[in-house]
Amino acid sequence: MSDNCIFCKIANKEIPSQFIYEDDTVVAFKDLDPQGPVHVLVIPKKHIASLMDTTAEDKALLAHITCDVIPQLAKELDVAEKGFRTVVNTGEEGGQTVQHLHFHIIGGRSMQWPPG
Ligand code: AMP
Ligand code: ZN
Repeated sequence: MSDNCIFCKIANKEIPSQFIYEDDTVVAFKDLDPQGPVHVLVIPKKHIASLMDTTAEDKALLAHITCDVIPQLAKELDVAEKGFRTVVNTGEEGGQTVQHLHFHIIGGRSMQWPPG
C-alpha cells in the first residue's frame, strides 16, 4: 500500500469500485474514461509503481496477470475471438498517468496502429 495511490485505495476497497475480477493478488475494474466498448484495468493488489519497478519477486504475479487473468477476462468480456488490445503505459513519455502498474484491456472496436 502506498499512501495517496488511487489504485491502492481501490484495491483495498477504501474507494468503492465494482470489481469485475478479484483474487488474492489481482483485481480488475472498469476504466473511468473508457476508450472503447470494453475498457478494463487489471492491477496487482501490491503497489508496484510501473513496469520499471518490478523485481524478480514479481515474476509469478506478472505471469498470472498476463497468462491467466487477462485471457480469462477477455473471454468473459467477449473480446477473445475478435481480439483486443493490452496496453501498459510506462513513464511520462509512455503516457502513464497513474503510478500503480496497470494493464489496460481495450476492445469491442477495431484498433488503429500506430497509437497516438
Ligand atoms: P494510464 O494513463 O495508462 O496511467 O491509465 C490510467 C487510467 O486510469 C486511465 O485510463 C484513467 O481513465 C483510469 N482511471 C483513473 N482513475 C480511475 C478510477 N478511479 N477508476 C477507474 N479508472 C480510473
Ligand atoms: Zn498503488
